[in-house]
Amino acid sequence: MSLPNRDNPYSFDEYLRWRRDVDYYADDPFLQKVLRAYAGGAFEAADREARSVSRKASFRWRDLSERIAWPENRPYMMHFDGHNHRIDRIVRPAELEAMEREVFGERLFADSTDPWVKLIKMFLIYQNGEAGIACPLTCTEGLVELLKKHAVSPELLTILRHCQEGLDGSIAIGAQYLSEIQGGSDVPANLLEAVPESSQRAGSGDAFRLYGKKFFCSATHADYAVVTAKPTGSEKVGLFVVPSWLPGDKAREVRNGYTIDRLKWKLGTCELPTAEITFDGALAYPVGPLASGLANVVGVVLTCSRLTVGLSGAAGMTRGVREARRYAEFRTAFGLPLAQFPLVAGQLAEMQTLAERSTAAAFRMYRDYLAMDGELSLSRDEPLATKKRRFQVRELVMLQKITNAWDSTDVSRMAMSIFGGHGVMEDFSSLPRLFRDAVINEQWEGPRNVLLTQIHRDLQKAAEWYAPAELVADVLAGAPAPKVQALQAELTELVSHPSLFGLDAETIEICRRWDALCHRFFHAYQDVARAEVNAISA
Ligand SMILES: Cc1cc2nc3c(=O)[nH]c(=O)nc-3n(C[C@H](O)[C@H](O)[C@H](O)COP(=O)(O)OP(=O)(O)OC[C@H]3O[C@@H](n4cnc5c(N)ncnc54)[C@H](O)[C@@H]3O)c2cc1C
Repeated sequence: MSLPNRDNPYSFDEYLRWRRDVDYYADDPFLQKVLRAYAGGAFEAADREARSVSRKASFRWRDLSERIAWPENRPYMMHFDGHNHRIDRIVRPAELEAMEREVFGERLFADSTDPWVKLIKMFLIYQNGEAGIACPLTCTEGLVELLKKHAVSPELLTILRHCQEGLDGSIAIGAQYLSEIQGGSDVPANLLEAVPESSQRAGSGDAFRLYGKKFFCSATHADYAVVTAKPTGSEKVGLFVVPSWLPGDKAREVRNGYTIDRLKWKLGTCELPTAEITFDGALAYPVGPLASGLANVVGVVLTCSRLTVGLSGAAGMTRGVREARRYAEFRTAFGLPLAQFPLVAGQLAEMQTLAERSTAAAFRMYRDYLAMDGELSLSRDEPLATKKRRFQVRELVMLQKITNAWDSTDVSRMAMSIFGGHGVMEDFSSLPRLFRDAVINEQWEGPRNVLLTQIHRDLQKAAEWYAPAELVADVLAGAPAPKVQALQAELTELVSHPSLFGLDAETIEICRRWDALCHRFFHAYQDVARAEVNAISA
């Protein structure tokens, strides 16, 4: 019999020692199998690079991410210097700036970096949450992909080189500003005006000047932003790249014709500045045909961001379940390790399934995205079989975005509850921060309802050359037949409903079923990927 000891010796140290020493890649055999399953001939190099970057992500960058998350380290604005010059300096902790240099120093978007090396590094880095790094990384990737397709002018080619290889020893960071106060989803309703420079000043090529406001501008510290705006006299959204500072002005802190009005106070991604901006004559370079601005921002820039939301959701789940499982083995209640309570065991198993299926599918889909050369527009002339494969990837990117954003919120909440009261303590583990970041992932890059509506419209439009039942059969090849047949029947039925816009009882019920069906459909796809990974030997 044990008697009470008033000098309570209880300690978390055994658990903390384990957590301190976990290597995100070396200690994750499932992740290694996922990489082996999908990286093909790039596996050896990607595996080697993953081991190397994991030693940074799992220890130094993990600790820096924790340190910069404290409320007193959040970014803030200095609008003026001591001599009454407007500078709009975003003050961020030195630790974040150091980590940013190190992460961007990996040159993830250089032509010499294999896409699989980039992907596995991003997955490992994302296990640390947003940390002021995840959004700038994906925005830079979107900017690079856009410029690789459309940069022709010397100015844009220099910006591309700056983002890929660096200039004067620094690698540039990108941002993307689409959302305005009257609507973030409804980009065609943008009001920001792009005035041709030539109408203001003769001989200035095809540059523009921007006037108006953007209301959600994350990674505001970036060097360049992709910005949507309407050219004077046009109702069509064009796409522009805007330098934050014109050459020579960064050191003098003179911004390029815009002011940062305030930083937003957010639930999550708190280490990342998100600002409201007024443009008053910012110099902007058009990218791609002006009339295709919307198609390019959605097809190229938002596709990269949506893939990242999927990948970072999987990364967050992987970390959440790993830490919760070990805690449940360490911690006892009523004389038993938590993991031995059937309720807890069942929850851990569910979390594990969600983490593994989302990780496997994120890598599988990336393989298929690469096979399409990252081009998801259906307007080209190509064999029907290729067009169908492109369509699959295009829809899966949206399905993954909404599913992983949703599931990662659930998994981090479930993981917190395994820790009981300690789960919601910000200085006990990273889980509250990962949870708050996951909630943000649901909102940006296309909220759930908007993407569900888009997927329904896409499937309807494609139905005459790609029947919903055939799409389901192709995407779920290898899944159990009864599951495939049930999904085929329901998808066919719901896609045949003329529109999701009627406010009648039937349409509302169809919408409710559509939401649940899309979730199940993507889980079925994820389960095919997970089974594929589990079938290979380590
Ligand atoms: C932390 C944070 C950072 C952000 N950073 C950036 C950034 O850097 N750059 C940027 O451009 N934006 C950014 N955003 C904005 C984000 O992309 C928008 O919030 C998002 O696009 C939604 O726009 P909204 O907030 O205006 O909501 P609304 O468009 O007003 O939507 C509100 C609700 O209506 C639903 N809805 C809208 N349209 C439809 C439809 N057709 N069918 C069904 N339902 C619909 C939506 O799903 C949502 O539930 C950021 C947002 C957050 C939270």
